[in-house]
Amino acid sequence: MTTPSLPTYADVEAAASRIAGVAHRTPVLTSSTLDALTGAEFFFKCENFQRMGAFKFRGAFNALSKFSAEQRKAGVVAFSSGNHAQGIALSAQLLNIPATIVMPHDAPAAKVAATKGYGAQVVVYDRYKEDREAIGRRLAEENGLTLIPPYDHPDILSGQGTAARELFEETGALDHLFVPLGGGGLLSGTALATRALAPQCVLHGVEPEAGNDGQRSFRTGEIVHIDTPVTIADGAQTQHLGHITFGIIKRDVNDILTASDADLVGAMKFFATRMKMLAEPTGCLGLAAALNLREQLAGKRVGVIISGGNIDLERFCSLAAV
Ligand SMILES: *Cc1c(COP(=O)(O)O)cnc(C)c1O
Repeated sequence: MTTPSLPTYADVEAAASRIAGVAHRTPVLTSSTLDALTGAEFFFKCENFQRMGAFKFRGAFNALSKFSAEQRKAGVVAFSSGNHAQGIALSAQLLNIPATIVMPHDAPAAKVAATKGYGAQVVVYDRYKEDREAIGRRLAEENGLTLIPPYDHPDILSGQGTAARELFEETGALDHLFVPLGGGGLLSGTALATRALAPQCVLHGVEPEAGNDGQRSFRTGEIVHIDTPVTIADGAQTQHLGHITFGIIKRDVNDILTASDADLVGAMKFFATRMKMLAEPTGCLGLAAALNLREQLAGKRVGVIISGGNIDLERFCSLAAV
């Protein structure tokens, strides 16, 4: 098997110019309460305020912007029950590209409605009987659609790297950066930006404790596959890293940490009560891991990416109540 060459920071810069003026330049917020509590100086890159509520818009818009005229005309297909679906659907609507999204029959009604609301056609499959990748590929072949995967794609991960690029532009070099990890699109893109803009920064990926395949892959040097983990971090329930994302992560990331569901709820409540904002459980992975390491962070400048804010109010209330 030939290994395609990995994307570089130049691809992140090119993505930044493609999404400029379309994606939000999200705010970088601070918390004096947290700084007093930890003795560190925290900077939060708030992708919960990104269009459609998560950083996924960056990669999706970057990827779709590169379509040829034929690809635009035929359309895009993606499989996802979560934020990637909405990122592709919104980007396709903005670029006038027909979009088909393959979603499980039991996907939350709100997510299906949001995806349809962006004008995408939703194809439903039975998650216990059918393989969504096979359905996506069949649709692509039969109808000439371009399949855009959620993380293991050069244009997706280069787009995701633009969030960290904006963060460093605003804060200058940081000592540590904590980044949520699912399939590794966000972490690998962030790694390209980090090694270019703050080479000494200690870069941590953070996974849910129940699904530490990335940590095991990082430590063994081979991609580890797991069953879908049971965790409230629904944006990080991936079963394995990608080949391209892992190639970058292996080379450029310092460590992979985990956070428990209880840690995520604690961080989510902190964001709500002290910073007056909603972050979804997956978006809380970075702060949760940073708090577990707090003794090591005193006196340091610490970046945290809040990756998304898509959580139903009912679900937020029930998680916050325990
Ligand atoms: C997709 C997603 C992640 C994980 O991103 P990967 O690129 O798959 O590692 C983290 N947080 C949120 C909110 C997401 O939607």
